[in-house]
Amino acid sequence: MSANQNTCSKCGGKSIVKGDIGLRTSRDLELIMVVRKDHGVEKKVPLQPKVCGKCGFVDLYVSEAKNLRIQPSDKPIAADARQRPILEYDF
Ligand SMILES: [Zn+2]
Repeated sequence: MSANQNTCSKCGGKSIVKGDIGLRTSRDLELIMVVRKDHGVEKKVPLQPKVCGKCGFVDLYVSEAKNLRIQPSDKPIAADARQRPILEYDF
């Protein structure tokens, strides 16, 4: 963890709960997914929670942000996904 990840982004306290924190829904952990809607591509990238022990603020971040990049092998999940060429800012 970097110093920044030990700081609450709401109250600024260095009171992030230590250890491995998990969030899950009652049924399926994978219900929480990152979706690149412009391409209709769903990326299964785990969201890492950061919980402040002082104010209770929960922040989410992606541990492997590079996995959010659209790859040529990614296929849109939705059949009616908007067709848009992949632009430079997608990477
Ligand atoms: Zn806080």
